[in-house]
Amino acid sequence: MLYDAHCHLHELDVEELLELKGYVIAAVSDDLESSLRTLDIAEEHRNVVPCVGVHPWSVGEASMSHLRELEKLVERAKCIGEVGLDRRFVPETYSKQLEFFKFFVKLARDYDLPMNIHAPDAWRDVYDILVRYDVERAVIHWYTGPLDLLDEIAEKGYFISINPAAQVQEKHMRVAVQVKLSSMLVESDAPYKYRGLSLTPKLIPKLLSLIAEARRMSLSELTAIVERNFKRLFRSL
Ligand SMILES: [Zn+2]
Repeated sequence: MLYDAHCHLHELDVEELLELKGYVIAAVSDDLESSLRTLDIAEEHRNVVPCVGVHPWSVGEASMSHLRELEKLVERAKCIGEVGLDRRFVPETYSKQLEFFKFFVKLARDYDLPMNIHAPDAWRDVYDILVRYDVERAVIHWYTGPLDLLDEIAEKGYFISINPAAQVQEKHMRVAVQVKLSSMLVESDAPYKYRGLSLTPKLIPKLLSLIAEARRMSLSELTAIVERNFKRLFRSL
């Protein structure tokens, strides 16, 4: 089995879903509607860990009643995400993002769920809130933040996930080499497109080989570590 810590499964079509039998996938949502779709997919596919939430890019058009509706879905979910803070792409909604993120942080704590987090240029802000609110389990996805924050993230038992974009994004590859193995996961963020790469879980085997080579370790050892980390974060499969 291969473990994808962050994938927008609700955007894939049925055939693509069926092709992913060899994967265990943490499926994130973007808003209320996609959260419902994600929960439905997870009911039919045992290899899916469903996450519900409102993506920072969707916060601008969402309302507080949206959040109350989402809260009703939490009992069916195994994770909260994709949620977070984004100062890079949508800085104009930052204060509303903060309100939403704190709501989700409390939800994660109240329901004892892990968080699947988006944090471009808000890496430290997210980390500080997780610590302040005593969140126990979280992954910060596609981490390209400061390298000196990586050890603090690991010390708290949080994770970061490495995306196949590491093939072409030098900064991300540096993260893949420096992060403590105990806090590393891998992801696809499918079906996002990045600099000519159509991201899909199927790029994960190549990504794992690339990381193993860069870290001068065996592929089987790395694969086993990623699997163990995934199970620790999501307490599943
Ligand atoms: Zn995403």
